[in-house]
Amino acid sequence: MRPIARAVFLDRDGTLIRDKKYAYRPEEIELLDGVLAGLRTLQQADFRLLVITNQSGVARGLFEEEDVRAMHRYLRELLLHDGVGISGFYYCPHHPDGCVPAYAFRCQCRKPEPGLILRASLEHGISLPDSWLIGDFVTDARAGLAAGCNTILINNGPYAIDDPAVGSLTMVARDFTHAAKIILDHEIGEDDDVQPSRYRAKVHSAAGTGSRRFLAGQLLRGHGRAAKP
Ligand SMILES: [Mg+2]
Ligand SMILES: [Zn+2]
Repeated sequence: MRPIARAVFLDRDGTLIRDKKYAYRPEEIELLDGVLAGLRTLQQADFRLLVITNQSGVARGLFEEEDVRAMHRYLRELLLHDGVGISGFYYCPHHPDGCVPAYAFRCQCRKPEPGLILRASLEHGISLPDSWLIGDFVTDARAGLAAGCNTILINNGPYAIDDPAVGSLTMVARDFTHAAKIILDHEIGEDDDVQPSRYRAKVHSAAGTGSRRFLAGQLLRGHGRAAKP
């Protein structure tokens, strides 16, 4: 029987590397703080690492698919140099408003659609309910939720989580280090408070009280307990 693997699906821009808006040159890659160490701990906990990224710059005529692939080869090498292996890079080159006809359509792979996550999970034998998505946009969380993963939004930029429907279902992290810790604490399983299903129930029961802050508060309290030996 084929063993079932689990994964952490990783948004690229704004999650792993600094979001420089349509960056496509390897020299523009700037790993964000905590990413290397966080990825290493997730890898040690036996999660496959799969990058899931929207690259509409291709549809917009700003760069080509080969540029995206070259950047991903570079990023793979950069991380491998520090002992982190990315199992796969999946990108969506499309956008309905693009100017390159071959890519200018509404696809099933651009987040918030779950297409890339579903494809990656099939190709790598991933169990989605046992897997996680980390991203910095609400569209990342929507894609992860649509695919049936646990999701974590890193609230690190100008993109506030202003959608209560998503906010009530996703966990919120301060940065990548915090996101990795949420996953590993959940892994230890010492604290029921960090079970996503429990979160959902609690957050729904607290409707109207500011679900995002509530969720974050629960998380931090959960950490305190989960951290004990
Ligand atoms: Mg992003
Ligand atoms: Zn697409």
